[in-house]
Amino acid sequence: MTAITLVRGDITEQHVDAIVNAANSSLLGGGGVDGAIHRKGGPEILAECRKLRASHYGKGLATGQAVATTAGRLNAQWVIHTVGPVWQADRDQSELLASCYRESLRVARELGATTVAFPAISTGVYGWPMDDGARIAVRTVREAADQPVAEVRFVLFDEAAYGEFERALAETP
Ligand code: ADP
Repeated sequence: MTAITLVRGDITEQHVDAIVNAANSSLLGGGGVDGAIHRKGGPEILAECRKLRASHYGKGLATGQAVATTAGRLNAQWVIHTVGPVWQADRDQSELLASCYRESLRVARELGATTVAFPAISTGVYGWPMDDGARIAVRTVREAADQPVAEVRFVLFDEAAYGEFERALAETP
């Protein structure tokens, strides 16, 4: 059984095996979680991202996919980069958002990570409503988390996000 825990705070402060980054498809940095991870993790992460762009990911990382790099100076072994969908009111992209969590966990298992920290993917600049984003995150992780991942920690930046994840956790069997 994988434990799901909630923490209010900054994902770059977490001591875990893998930190998931809400990246964009360029893999070359951005704002929000992405900016914070590169700032604090240092240039090694970007250097590996550039190598990925020069090899298997010439066109960038597709929405819903995930790929790992070093975590540089962060208190983690790996950063797992995933690209969430941009919220669109007239189009249901829930499967793509679920895929971010599923694929990140697949990569984490392949790496042998036992503890994984996730942000609330797509709920920042990408505009996904927090209540729905939290439900998809919790449901997908409940279904997909497996050994050797012993803990999935959702790291929520503010009280409102924390509250939505708490509710989603209580509602999800
Ligand atoms: P996206 O582009 O996928 O929406 P963002 O990084 O803009 O990604 O935001 C994702 C979520 O992460 C938002 O809810 C935002 O408030 C939150 N967030 C921003 N910075 C941090 C951080 N340092 N640690 C944890 N969560 C963060």
